Amino acid sequence: MRVLILSDIHANRIALDAVLEAAGEVEATWCLGDVVGYGPQPNECVERLLAIDELICLQGNHDAATVGDLPLDSFNPDARTSLEWQQKTLDDEAIDFLKDRPRSTVQGNYTLVHASPRHPVLEYLLDAYTAAENFEYFDTEYCFVGHTHIPVIFKMTDSTKRVSLRSPEAGTAIELQPRQIINPGSVGQPRDRDPRAAFAILDTETNEYHYQRVEYDVKAVQRLMEAAKLPKRHIERLETGW
Ligand code: ZN
Repeated sequence: MRVLILSDIHANRIALDAVLEAAGEVEATWCLGDVVGYGPQPNECVERLLAIDELICLQGNHDAATVGDLPLDSFNPDARTSLEWQQKTLDDEAIDFLKDRPRSTVQGNYTLVHASPRHPVLEYLLDAYTAAENFEYFDTEYCFVGHTHIPVIFKMTDSTKRVSLRSPEAGTAIELQPRQIINPGSVGQPRDRDPRAAFAILDTETNEYHYQRVEYDVKAVQRLMEAAKLPKRHIERLETGW
């Protein structure tokens, strides 16, 4: 099965459209959460996801906060301002969709969570040490995570239980090797100094993992954010991907 894996869309419909077009035909789409927060088009992103057949979409921390399932005081002031705007802007259909999302799921050989297997909504997996602690919290060979907006693959070697970290190279397909925790990066707000939208295509028969980046019209998104009076810092960061 050819699966599109994406995460952290963050109300950036223009980036989402670019990813869906670049991905081409897929048999399933796994979205690892944070559909809303930061960006200017939360309803439009939910609307687009609802049109996808065979979609699995998790609830991320921004989604949870927007629909009242997580307190806003766990966010920094700019993120909070943005979340309050999202709350005012979301329509009923989008609220129902975000409220109904699971926080984790298992699909065959793959566990899917937004943040980490140990804390599915809140923990940041940024280093090998924290990742190593998380390998005992899932039973499958692979776990896909989002949340940090940084594409990475953590691998545990069977014999030594050591965990190594690598940054995958965009545009190059690799074969996944058990056991791994894999982050496909962020569609709508990359933070690895590459402003292009990130996503991956997984072949579940061969375990071929093809991580990719695609350009989108950042300026158009920035104009929508300015019109919505969203925080300046969030508008600026899209340009350089930090
Ligand atoms: Zn996020």
